[in-house]
Amino acid sequence: MKKIKVKLGSNSYEVRVGADLLGQTGQWLKEWGFSGKAAIITDTTVDGLYGDTLSQSLTRDGFNVTTLVVPPGEEQKSLETAGSLYQELTGSYAERTTSILALGGGVIGDLAGFVAATYMRGVPLIQVPTTLLAQVDSSIGGKVAVDHGQLKNTIGVFYQPRVVISDIDTLKTLPEVELANGLSEIIKSAAIRNRKFFNFLESNLERARALDVAVLEEIVLETAKIKAEIVARDEKDLGLRGILNYGHTVGHALETASNFQLQHGQAVAIGMTAAARISNKMGILDENEVVRLKNVIEKAGLPTEMPNLNIKDIISAMKHDKKVLQDKIRFILLKAIGDAFITDEVSLSLVEEVLVGK
Ligand code: ADP
Ligand code: ZN
Repeated sequence: MKKIKVKLGSNSYEVRVGADLLGQTGQWLKEWGFSGKAAIITDTTVDGLYGDTLSQSLTRDGFNVTTLVVPPGEEQKSLETAGSLYQELTGSYAERTTSILALGGGVIGDLAGFVAATYMRGVPLIQVPTTLLAQVDSSIGGKVAVDHGQLKNTIGVFYQPRVVISDIDTLKTLPEVELANGLSEIIKSAAIRNRKFFNFLESNLERARALDVAVLEEIVLETAKIKAEIVARDEKDLGLRGILNYGHTVGHALETASNFQLQHGQAVAIGMTAAARISNKMGILDENEVVRLKNVIEKAGLPTEMPNLNIKDIISAMKHDKKVLQDKIRFILLKAIGDAFITDEVSLSLVEEVLVGK
């Protein structure tokens, strides 16, 4: 097991990454002074796979465990589901000292995190992410939220967990498309911040896709480090943290324009390629770097070319998402692989030109 620290003063916490961690969770929580009631929030799929291992570990160390299960899917990130979880928590006499363990992917992390942040003005939150995407991204940094209708993450707060426990073994049951979603965010993190790690990905992506535990552990750890470092410098997302949105300006627009038929990871993969091309057209990024990025994305089994969507829909989704002032839109660009920056100087006409492949 390896540890990294998210340094946020009195809100600092550890991210633990390794194999076979679920079974040790009870013991660790006890060592850290937690006791009494614990509520696991999870979805039916993850509950069937890992619910017992986690709840048995907690029970063994003296916790009084309740498991609250919701159906899988983004639709559960709603105030309505949060409402029924509050109901179940009060029903099981959950107190201010009751820990909430979010066992699952990003949906569960956001939903259970939101519930933990608001129930009795906040109870201890333990993130136990089980998707690659959640392990490298959403479980770290304290953004928790539910959606408001079609608008994603509209109702939320910053609420840091007490610890993140990323058990690599749980990735073995992950559907391939979920694995690719995680790899997309991993490539993004290397591309914006760590060239050496990018080199590592170039040589090890195949092993990661074959679920080699040692490689996955290294990758989760390195990506978590990048996220932890960025979050520590900009907890509330007022500046630097924006670079984590590399590939996401176009990515989000593609998700919307495709009516969410495109997966997040796929949309971001296309968005990253487009942003690299834009960087190149603006004379900031070398052509070779664009090719390297594109090759790595393809190695991960992710798309790099524009899907068959209406360009007008994509542009209008982008305008809806980001402020456009005199044809300029905020973008994250690359100077080199490993070195990203935020700019307000990208013209929407250049974006359109790159997207239609001119
Ligand atoms: P994310 O936002 O992290 O991609 P979601 O929370 O949307 O993930 O979960 C994606 C799907 O994967 C859900 O249907 C969930 O039940 C399932 N899932 C989560 N973790 C695992 C796992 N370790 N093995 C198999 N399926 C999983
Ligand atoms: Zn993302």
